[in-house]
This record gives sequence, C-alpha cells and structure tokens, in this order.
Amino acid sequence: MGFLSKRVDAIIESQTIAMARKSRELKAAGIDIISLSLGEPDFKTPDTIKAAAINAIETDFSYYTHVSGTLELRQAICNKLKRDNQLDYTPEEIVVSTGAKQSIANAVMCLIDPGDEVILPAPFWVSYQQIVSLAEGHAVIIHCSMEQNFKIDAATLEKHITPKTKMIMISSPCNPTGAVYSKEEMAALVKVIEKHPRIFILADEIYEHINFVGEHYSFARFESIKDRVITVNGVSKGFAMTGWRGGYMAANKSIATACDKIQGQFTSATSSITQKAIEAAMQLPKESTHSMRDAFLRRRNLLVEKLQAIPGLKCNVPEGAFYLYPEITSFIGKSHDGFSIKNGTDMSLFLLEKAHVAVVPGAAFGEDKYIRLSYATSDDKLIEAADRIKKALALLT
Ligand code: PMP
Ligand code: GLU
Repeated sequence: MGFLSKRVDAIIESQTIAMARKSRELKAAGIDIISLSLGEPDFKTPDTIKAAAINAIETDFSYYTHVSGTLELRQAICNKLKRDNQLDYTPEEIVVSTGAKQSIANAVMCLIDPGDEVILPAPFWVSYQQIVSLAEGHAVIIHCSMEQNFKIDAATLEKHITPKTKMIMISSPCNPTGAVYSKEEMAALVKVIEKHPRIFILADEIYEHINFVGEHYSFARFESIKDRVITVNGVSKGFAMTGWRGGYMAANKSIATACDKIQGQFTSATSSITQKAIEAAMQLPKESTHSMRDAFLRRRNLLVEKLQAIPGLKCNVPEGAFYLYPEITSFIGKSHDGFSIKNGTDMSLFLLEKAHVAVVPGAAFGEDKYIRLSYATSDDKLIEAADRIKKALALLT
C-alpha cells in the first residue's frame, strides 16, 4: 500500500495480538481452540480495586487529570516503590500511562534518535523491537541460549557496545522465557554500564509479582547508574487488570518531564477511573499477589512436566512470569498432511490446525526455533492442551 508511511511499513503487527485474534476467530467459528497465546492472567481484579473505580465513577471523577497522573496516584506509586523495592522517587519522577506498553514507547521516543543502537538480549518481549524501529533506532539483537538460561552476561554485553549504543532493554522476570536476573548477575551488567555514561537501561518489571525464586530486585537499586535506569511497571499482570490499561515509569526528572511532554501530545493521561483503580492497587500489600503467584507456579510445574515428557520438545524451567518457551529444533525438516516444519512459525500454524492449540511463534521474540505458550489458564485446559500437542507432534515424520 504505497500511501502508508515508511514508518508503519517498517513494523509488523504484534504477533501475540495476531495469534489471539486468530484463535478468537476460530472459536467464533465453532472450533474448540485452547488459547495459550496471549499473556493475560485468568484471575479476577481484586474487589478493593474494583470498588475504588466504582467510587470514582459515582463521585464524578470524570475529567482530564495531570498528563502524568494525579499527584495522589504518583505519590502512591512512590510509596509502593519505597515499600516493595527500596527505591526513592518523587512524584515528578513518575509518569502514569495507558499500560506499560505506552511507558516503554514514551521512554524510547524520548531517548532514541535515528541510528542509535538499542541492545535487546534475545529472547525479548515482542514489542521492544518494533517500538525501537518506530523511533528509527537500530535494534542490536544478542542471542542468549537456553543453556545460559536465556540471560546476557557482562562480557557479551560489553562486546556489543559501540559509540552508538544508547539503551539496553531487559524484562526480569522475562517474557517470554521466565528468566529472572539475580542481584549478582545484575551487578555484573551494571559494572559494564557504569563505564559507558551514555547508556540507559529500560528495566521492565511488569512481572515483579510473578517470581518463583525469591525477592524481586530492581536495576534502579544500583545507585551508580540509578539516574540512567527507567523502571517500567504496571497493574496488568500482578493485579489481573490487562484491560484497565494502567502502567507507569519511574525515571530521572528530565526523562519523566520529556515523557510527560510526548504523552501530552499523543494521548494525555490514562483514564481517570483507571487511575483511581491503580491507586488502590498500589496500596495493596504485595503479599496479596502471592495466591496468584502460587497458582502460576503450580501450573508451571504441571505444564513443564507434561511438555518435558514429549519426545523432541526441549523445555526449560522458568523462574517467573507465566510463559514457557520450548525449543522445537528436533522437528525441523519433518512434515505431515501438507505441513512442513521449517521454524517456530510453521510449528505454531501446525499446532493451531492439528492440535487446536494457539501458541505464539518464537520469532516474535527474536528466536525462530522456539514457540511460546502462556500458562495463564486453568489446569484442565493446560492438561488438555499438552495432550493435544503431544498427539499432533507424534504425527510429524
Ligand atoms: N512488558 C512486558 C514484558 C509484557 O509482557 C507486557 C504485556 N502485557 C507489557 C510490557 C505491556 O503491558 P501493559 O501494556 O498491559 O501494561
Ligand atoms: N504482554 C502480553 C503478551 O506478551 C500481552 C500481549 C501484548 O501486549 O502484546 O502476550
């Protein structure tokens, strides 16, 4: 389509959203699809959060707010960052957005000039590369193997830094691998970043509450680089609020002010009602998220056990979030009924058609010999999905 901008032609549709759309269409056509594509908790938003939103509606809290969010909300976020993460921020350093996705886009738009390099340890979350591309930055993809638990180490990071490097983007716990960086692993990366004063870290902490291996640790805890850390978080995952569209960032005042300026021209503040809901979420003790975390841990164990028992599928044991990212290399070159498997995309289409299970191609996260499954669904569905996958894979010869 020649009339569209080069900017939009340069990016692709979010593959997580595309697979979710495809499975909704098939379901609507009467096909019994089990969707393990979209990462969204199947729990209910806590009642106190819902009550805060209802109260906001009933008391006519219906108007535009400060672009970065109400002062009360930004103060509540500062209190949460202090209480849970031992981080000191002031309300001028907080920008609330329409989901963490917008916080990430704001940060990239404010920091990346055309040609700037952004290091993405792969596998990375689906939208990072496309947002960098929209900003005309250059994504430098560094492949991290399952053997290194999909994490980048300090020496590898250092090797890829050039005078053009401006940012590194890391999610921990990671979507799609579930990898969690330990304090020591972070410290090693921070030592490298200390030597390069032009580099910023975008630390995506949206899965903070879904961590199976211990206390969450923030990159912003390292005082030597705190000024260059943009901490992104939100309520979608920890409080089962994907549709409410509430995310935020904490960053130094210059970056926060720049993001406020960009957001003021694009969308203004997120919904006033959602803001009241986020404020209530920030006041909930982090222990309130533990029952959901424990349920995810049980499901992780269930699905890992089932998938590891399938011949040829190589599956790691994630430390957090709610995804599995199995490697499918041993099926490459095999075929069945017109399907010939060359990569994770072929495998995803095969599983959709022959197992009626929707997953996401690994390529969306930077690695095409993998697929991603979200286990944010009921135990029964997970058991049924694993059985269907096993049967379908056995057809490939
Ligand atoms: N970061 C990561 C790693 C994610 O998986 C997601 C998906 N929800 C987001 C950011 C964006 O979250 P939201 O916009 O729903 O707050
Ligand atoms: N973050 C979720 C996922 O990775 C939701 C989809 C999206 O925002 O792209 O599946």
